[in-house]
Amino acid sequence: MKVQKMRFGVLTEKGHAEVRERPLPDMGPEEVLVKQDACNICTTDYQQWLGQREGRGYPMASGHESSGTVVEVGEKVQDLKPGDRVSLAYVTCGICDSCKRGTGCDNNAIGPKKMSPDGYRGMFAFADYAVRPARALIKMRQDLDPSEAAFMEPLAAVVKGLSKLKVQPLETVVVVGAGTMGLLNAQALRALGCHVIVSELMDNKIEVARAMGFQVINGNKVNPVEEIKKLTGGKGADAAVLAVASTYVNNQALELVKALDGRILYFGAAYPAPQIQIDSNVIHYRRLELIGTYGADLKDFCVAADMLNQRVVNVSKLIEKKRYTLDNIQEAFAEAATPGKFRVSVLL
Ligand SMILES: [Zn+2]
Ligand SMILES: [Zn+2]
Repeated sequence: MKVQKMRFGVLTEKGHAEVRERPLPDMGPEEVLVKQDACNICTTDYQQWLGQREGRGYPMASGHESSGTVVEVGEKVQDLKPGDRVSLAYVTCGICDSCKRGTGCDNNAIGPKKMSPDGYRGMFAFADYAVRPARALIKMRQDLDPSEAAFMEPLAAVVKGLSKLKVQPLETVVVVGAGTMGLLNAQALRALGCHVIVSELMDNKIEVARAMGFQVINGNKVNPVEEIKKLTGGKGADAAVLAVASTYVNNQALELVKALDGRILYFGAAYPAPQIQIDSNVIHYRRLELIGTYGADLKDFCVAADMLNQRVVNVSKLIEKKRYTLDNIQEAFAEAATPGKFRVSVLL
């Protein structure tokens, strides 16, 4: 292999990220050496930096929203060649029962729960180089900005959620929260032919949502429930996507969707855990569907890559202007953890 070492970002304890070096693992016949170009800081990453997800453990070589360029391929890899732009999906074993059924993997080969032989957790996505199984890499169009290509993973999670929500073209869907995940949901819904209404409280996010062409309800100025009723002829939305997790929003959502057959997708998590106050008779008589989602399967990554490659989802406004280098990873985490930020991108 042309490269022998990798430099990578690692969380060593609450509030501290640093750069370390290790030898690159050997590349197997079905693996690929990737020069990683960008990795964006996900909520999961900065929540651990903030000390809200201590259960994930340390040292955490975190990151999972990354894109890169193929440098070298193992002898059995056929569909990737040096120079290809790729984004990272989840590493699955491909042979367990869940993999065969296309829903998750029973033995996630790499992930926050697994430890590398040299004692690190995580996927080493904040790294200059990495050796990845070819099956976890998806080809992206060559002229896509690396930080934009790195949106394949969060967009795959959106695709997964919307497939569970079973949205149909022409349905009215309200997205609560216009942060990165809210606006990714809104764009994917629009690409799927839905009528999208976004509800948000923060001015800078309202502005970005409007710049993307969405109809936006400012929850500080009007009552979102009344406004949705007004915009839907008194009926309520067909479905709601909650891209903010809070007890207040959970309860509000029950009133945002139509009286009968409304569906609600719980997209985010928060700590401490939000509650939902509802009795099962209401779920029964309103035929409500309360749907959870998390992560994505390989087929969702393929759809997400199509959406980015075909430019039906444009994430350029969801990246903070200042981009960081690996050496400034601590600063990058501090910006990502500041309320109201879109994705902070680290160029590798
Ligand atoms: Zn993520
Ligand atoms: Zn598997």
